[in-house]
Amino acid sequence: MMSSFPKVTIEGYPRIGANRELKKALEGYWAGRISAEDFTSAAHSLRLNNYHRLQDLGLNEDYAIPADVAYYDQVLETALTVGLIGGGEVSLDEEFALARGNSERAPLEMTKWFDTNYHYLVPEVGTDALTPRPQRILNIVEEAREADVVVRPYLVGPVTLLALAKAAEGAGEPLERLDEVVDAYAEILTELARAGVDWVQLAEPALVADLGPGDEKLAELAEKAHRRLLEPAAGEERPNVLITTPYGSLRAGLKALANAAPEALHVDLAPGTLANDEDYVARINETVGKDIHLVAGLIDGRNVWAADLAERDQVLKSFAGREVSVSTSVSLLHVPHTLAAEEDLPVDVVSWLAFADEKIAEAVALANGDEEAVARSQRAVRTRRESERTRVAAVQERTAALPDGQVERKPDFAGRREAQEALGLPTLPTTTIGSFPQTKEIRTSRADHRKGKLSDEQYTEALKKEIADVVRFQEDLGLDVLVHGEAERNDMVQYFAELLDGFVATQNGWVQSYGSRCTRPPIVVGDVSRPKAMTVEWAKYAQSLSDKPVKGMLTGPVTILAWSFVRDDVPLAVSADQIALALADEVRDLEEAGISVIQIDEPALRELLPLREDDRPAYLDWSIRSFRLVALDAKPTTQIHTHLCYSEFGQIIDAVAALDADVTSIEAARSKMELLVDLNDNFHSQIGPGIWDIHSPRVPSVDELEELITAALKHVPAERLWVNPDCGLKTRGYEETEASLKNLVEARNRVVEKL
Ligand code: GLN
Ligand code: ZN
Repeated sequence: MMSSFPKVTIEGYPRIGANRELKKALEGYWAGRISAEDFTSAAHSLRLNNYHRLQDLGLNEDYAIPADVAYYDQVLETALTVGLIGGGEVSLDEEFALARGNSERAPLEMTKWFDTNYHYLVPEVGTDALTPRPQRILNIVEEAREADVVVRPYLVGPVTLLALAKAAEGAGEPLERLDEVVDAYAEILTELARAGVDWVQLAEPALVADLGPGDEKLAELAEKAHRRLLEPAAGEERPNVLITTPYGSLRAGLKALANAAPEALHVDLAPGTLANDEDYVARINETVGKDIHLVAGLIDGRNVWAADLAERDQVLKSFAGREVSVSTSVSLLHVPHTLAAEEDLPVDVVSWLAFADEKIAEAVALANGDEEAVARSQRAVRTRRESERTRVAAVQERTAALPDGQVERKPDFAGRREAQEALGLPTLPTTTIGSFPQTKEIRTSRADHRKGKLSDEQYTEALKKEIADVVRFQEDLGLDVLVHGEAERNDMVQYFAELLDGFVATQNGWVQSYGSRCTRPPIVVGDVSRPKAMTVEWAKYAQSLSDKPVKGMLTGPVTILAWSFVRDDVPLAVSADQIALALADEVRDLEEAGISVIQIDEPALRELLPLREDDRPAYLDWSIRSFRLVALDAKPTTQIHTHLCYSEFGQIIDAVAALDADVTSIEAARSKMELLVDLNDNFHSQIGPGIWDIHSPRVPSVDELEELITAALKHVPAERLWVNPDCGLKTRGYEETEASLKNLVEARNRVVEKL
């Protein structure tokens, strides 16, 4: 008799370690500081520590703990286990070469995992026969068993794996290989069953997103694939199967998976998901047969707020009359490990929050009907609702006075264009995106200042010196629109979050962004406002050193929200309006300080685009509005720039046009300016497609840059074209920066001569 499904579980758990142990081991190994053996043993200890920690938190039934382990990424791990990529045995170094590239091969492409800030590696599917590597997962099961833990093996499901993959050159669409891939999964499941595993988890989030061939088609493929897996062929065996569907609600996929009838089905029931799809609970009750064990993803895994357990219990009770377990809506990978590591958070705020470990405690409390926990939760909900930290009358009055709907800067782009001729810019003006190389000295002064080792005056002096150097450097190169270099910013979002009211910062709230890279997102706790100017001092100083225009640099509302933990008690659009007004004040102050060019960075505009097509128009409305609010009252003579990167913007090019910036710089070098093909008549802003890929230290030649500018001129008339790199230079060194920018200016000069 197989074991029944545990009463409480989670969809997944952070892998990086409460003290970023995995990050340190990875980077130690890559840098050659530790051996492969030391690396694997560090990763092994971390896994076991995590399992024990999870048991202590209450996930102590067999199979309650998902073994969603990976050195670098769970999609890469599954692709390797299934044998979708790599030939023969894949060594540690080969695995890391796939992830990071080496002298022989480029790394796999990396992209956003659903609508989160986690990035996965995109498997490249060729035509080779698959060579499943079940041993990878068997080792994980075995290692846990030796420590007396019965974990639930985790694989990204077959449909999701292929929907997220891309075709290698010359190969067909990955999903065309679904049958073969499912056979490989069947082989792995057989091995797991033979090893005595009772439950396995297959994550199929592709079914909640309008990916690839679309909802209906994916659902159809999923039904077929999972039926095949769930009805083993002769000679095959399998464990019980839990299919998980995080990151939103299933539509056609609900019926499809119900038809396939796995032993257990996980659904995302986070408050945000239910708000988007009001009859989800009813549809689940109608569609999912009672013989399927329901795993209710009630604890929101994508934000840091403590749950309202009374409200969550109501949702749980709506599944009365069937077998239900409590789980998280998505993997806890997206939140920091624990509040226990935070000493500086305001005490009132602490009770409103729950990180990964606290969320597990919530799930356990919910599953056990722990009344004391419910009462505590209700007190926290109330203090949060009534706190003056969350509701600020002055901010609310200001946003209430805003017009509804779309706003428009006056005069229109043509009128502004004329007014901005006063800037006296040459043909094909050159500029950079904002940051200059962050040298060790800069980082040290910032850190020393934070620790109080450097006084405010000393710090200001150090920054001024840096700004003066950066300005002189740009003048020597002959750039046309200068920047101050952003040396004062550790991060383009955190910098503003620290200066705005309504945010709090964590000390140790790291979450994995990709591989060993972690970020520490600020938390929007309440209504946002600007107590004082944030960037003016530096911009003004830089401008005082040059006759050329120096750009003021702001991070836009969408990007600030995209890289923060946001409120769940007001719509995103409300926070966006508030941040926009704070930034609009900054624009006014910059203008008053004599700044005539202001850049509002929105690299995350595409990132926040909802997964479901139906949800996109509303998102685009409020996000465009928030950008426009920042620039709304700017003088016609003030040239507003925006900057976009990290994604392909072709799909939302009309939205980019609708930002109504005067100048738009967009990452384009790696895609060889593909983006320009998407420009249409709606796009009248001046545009600077990046011509230097700043992601590597490689210096592009003058010829190469000239070619790119010439290519751009086929799509954009010279009077609207700018010449600039792809993105900020903060991660580059001065040597390659100088050489590359020199070539960039030279290439521009050559093209201008030929015009
Ligand atoms: N102005 C920022 C910089 O140059 C923009 C960074 C970004 O787009 N990610 O660093
Ligand atoms: Zn950028």
